[in-house]
Amino acid sequence: MQKIDRYEPIVGKSKIDELRMLAGYLKGKVIQHINSTAVGGGVAEILSKILPLMQELGVNTQWDIIKGSPDFFDVTKSIHNALHGKDTLITKEMWKTFNDISSQNIREMNLYGDIMFIHDPQPIALVKRKSGMRKSKWIWRCHVDVSAPDRKVWDFLSNFIDQYDAAIFSSAHFSHKMKPKQVLISPSIDPFSDKNREVTQDEIDAVLNKYKIDPRQKPIVCQISRYDALKDPVGVIEAYKMVKKYVDCQLVLVGNRAADDPETDKIYGQVLEAAGGDPDIHALLVEDIPYEINVLQRVSDVIVQKSIREGFALTVSEALWKAKPVVASAVGGIPLQIKHKYGGLLCHSIEGAAFAIKQLLNAPEYARKLGENGKEHIRQNFLLTRHIREYMLLFLSLYSDSGVVTL
Ligand code: UDP
Repeated sequence: MQKIDRYEPIVGKSKIDELRMLAGYLKGKVIQHINSTAVGGGVAEILSKILPLMQELGVNTQWDIIKGSPDFFDVTKSIHNALHGKDTLITKEMWKTFNDISSQNIREMNLYGDIMFIHDPQPIALVKRKSGMRKSKWIWRCHVDVSAPDRKVWDFLSNFIDQYDAAIFSSAHFSHKMKPKQVLISPSIDPFSDKNREVTQDEIDAVLNKYKIDPRQKPIVCQISRYDALKDPVGVIEAYKMVKKYVDCQLVLVGNRAADDPETDKIYGQVLEAAGGDPDIHALLVEDIPYEINVLQRVSDVIVQKSIREGFALTVSEALWKAKPVVASAVGGIPLQIKHKYGGLLCHSIEGAAFAIKQLLNAPEYARKLGENGKEHIRQNFLLTRHIREYMLLFLSLYSDSGVVTL
């Protein structure tokens, strides 16, 4: 049995047959994905799941990573923040660092794809090699919320974006005027990955012991995200404190390190300070062990994603797939995943988050129903098979003058 066959009972046979057919049309093409980190964050998460399936379907799909120095990742994190609309100073020297490291990657990287699939701003300048790779098609995949970017930074990136053949965004709100054709493709989760599969009682016990969490004591409110100001972990603590006045509960904050995110320690320090030694706050800085995230999501009573900006928020799909009631900010790709009061609760402030968490903790039957509806929504819209289908259709459209795929 192939891996892809396992998805049939979840999404239906016709969907899997279609994937096989589309893959057949891509025989002989090499797809080269490039991003800036192999672990940590949503991009690495998705690529690690898409690659094996595409390869199994017979599409030659590869993944390479650019080289970067700590200085370079400081700059790209500032670019990331500026794209999210945060007031950020990027000095001349910082731009020079970006250009120097980009030039080094442009010179040294082995670029060989028929379709070059570049993720996010860090490797964006590689498109300068396009003219030397005749017939290659270039896709820029934007995973960040660019609904209200800093104008200067966006204009700088536009010089590169305009050289691509297509640009992919996760929400229609992120669209801008640009030369390449724009495509809306949402990310996805893999129901069979260690992060989403069923877990055993032994696995649950091991994780709870390791992190000294007892779910029988008090209901668990949990947010799982890199320690990043835009994920607002301190806001989650404030919301928890408001809830705690009415419902006794414990808060679990979980974050790992992404190789391309230099801000972890600073934000984690702020979180510990805000937690102020409260024994019911578990602020965990964890290694990248997917099944542990899975367990922590499953033992939670309410899952929060109180982001200030968000490209998509895979964590929301992951939580809903486990039929958990979710409280999440109405930003970026989150409203695509949550229909308010049907498949979760959307919020717009710390107070709003606190109100929604309290409501769910007080009404378990309502919370259960929201979780169930949310899971069905994810099944229909945000699983890996849909994502792969849309990528393959886009690849094929790049070889059609009209942009329409005729099979
Ligand atoms: N994640 C993880 N461990 C952590 C925190 C996050 O494995 O401690 C995972 C999370 O489960 C999700 C991904 O990292 O799969 C984060 O993707 P998302 O789109 O939510 O946010 P990003 O970090 O890309 O902004």
